[in-house]
Amino acid sequence: MSEETIFSKIIRREIPAEILFQDDLVTAFRDIDPKAPTHILIIPNHLIPTTNDVKSSDEKALGRMVTVAAKLAQEAGIAEDGYRIIMNCNKHGGQEVYHIHMHLVGGHFLGPMLSQDR
Ligand code: AMP
Repeated sequence: MSEETIFSKIIRREIPAEILFQDDLVTAFRDIDPKAPTHILIIPNHLIPTTNDVKSSDEKALGRMVTVAAKLAQEAGIAEDGYRIIMNCNKHGGQEVYHIHMHLVGGHFLGPMLSQDR
């Protein structure tokens, strides 16, 4: 049994968050510590700890995460200039919250895909 994170409380609206979209499969809300002018997190409503744990039965929710990201990018006015979608996995990926989430970031030029610094 996987441990719930703070994101489950956001989904159930037990703690405050700026929720931009929610349906039966996914929830999207603003990142509390934005790294770009637009920084939104899109998550499945059911707990999947990491992308290593994704199963074929999760494909509908993961597909919905992408369509919701595209819709929110349009609404934020960043679709034409472009943006980045990021999913971090485990320690080397820099994952901090173990409930998979898609970062939708944009609003200015984001630079090279990966920093060369370690
Ligand atoms: P990651 O490093 O990919 O696991 O990203 C976790 C993200 O969750 C970070 O960008 C945090 O700023 C964000 N975060 C953590 N707690 C909250 C919260 N309560 N509300 C919104 N975003 C959060």
